[in-house]
Amino acid sequence: MNTETLTTSLEASGVNAPRMRITGVRVHTLTGELKKRFGWSLNWTRTRTGKLVEVSTDAGLTGWGDGACDAEWLAANAHLVIGRSPFEVEAIYDELRRPAEPQQRPGPPSAPGLDVALWDLVGQALGQPVSALLGRRYRTSVRPYLTALYRKDWPDLAGGLAEEARSWVAAGFQAMKMKIGFSPDTDVEVVAAVREAIGPRIGLGVDSNCAYDAGTAARLGARLEPFDLMWWEEPVLADDLDGYRRLREAIRIPLAGGETAPVDWLIENYVQPRLVDILQPDLESVGLTGARLLNHLCWLNRIRLIPHNWSTALRTVATLHWMACCPPLTPALQPPEVMFEFDQTEHPFRDAILEERIAPDPASGLIPVPTGPGLGVTVIPDAVAEFRTKLVEISG
Ligand SMILES: [Mg+2]
Repeated sequence: MNTETLTTSLEASGVNAPRMRITGVRVHTLTGELKKRFGWSLNWTRTRTGKLVEVSTDAGLTGWGDGACDAEWLAANAHLVIGRSPFEVEAIYDELRRPAEPQQRPGPPSAPGLDVALWDLVGQALGQPVSALLGRRYRTSVRPYLTALYRKDWPDLAGGLAEEARSWVAAGFQAMKMKIGFSPDTDVEVVAAVREAIGPRIGLGVDSNCAYDAGTAARLGARLEPFDLMWWEEPVLADDLDGYRRLREAIRIPLAGGETAPVDWLIENYVQPRLVDILQPDLESVGLTGARLLNHLCWLNRIRLIPHNWSTALRTVATLHWMACCPPLTPALQPPEVMFEFDQTEHPFRDAILEERIAPDPASGLIPVPTGPGLGVTVIPDAVAEFRTKLVEISG
């Protein structure tokens, strides 16, 4: 977009965008109770939590983001945000890194949720969807893979998972992920039961949430190979880089990981050394500014980018804009498919906070990328308030 086009677009939007200033930030912490608990290799839960960041401006526009935000630190450093233009989004992202020693590199970003809200504002001000701002758009809809199939209070775990998996196939999902990491024998039993239940043509991934050491994982991986898995997510601890390297040589299942790591550490330790086959960063910790970097760097290093996505539908929408701009890994007519995680476990407020319903198109199985300005969806403030358990307001 050249300067003349930008100016015309800004005038058409009715907003004097370059002079727009941030006047306030509200960080909403949300909590919801579950009807039934569910578990994975690390824990059981009866609640879902989330953090939404709302940014107001003197132009009357409000931006929203779902992601981490160190509200107390931000309140103590309000001058880094209040009074600035949302168009400084990348500068703000860098300046909000947690303080590091002068001789060290900058720390991880402290407010990725704020970063998403600023991209929303920039898109609104320009009258453009965020996907039009992040880079070249390769697609207008994206395939979700289903995340469900957690451990529940079933008397027969394998039987319960198999029955649940069949219900998701009946609902139209072509790819899904299940939890493992309970013990090698249990894992083989439950994966066998789910694979048999869904048949050979449905994509199946597994996630052990860092449950194993590399030696145990290598033996288990050999037993899981016959089940034709899309990937094995977090077989070992996220910082067990030697363990990942050993597994990548030892087993014939694509390795995946990276959901909890900050962006620079992820680039240095997972992307550049090509540690994994599939990188799974989350906007929770990388924001859209970091996500844009990862689109390019994963392509450059021939790593599939399949984002982790574990929060509200607002996070899903931001991930859709991100994935619209994710380059295909090869020039093949059917390159490795671009996908992202679509959580369908019980969640009291995931969909309630948005006016729009974010779901796959029944015919194609794909989710359309919103086309309206900014993120292209409308947050319902009353729904946010209903589930809010904490509010931090930051102003000049
Ligand atoms: Mg995971």
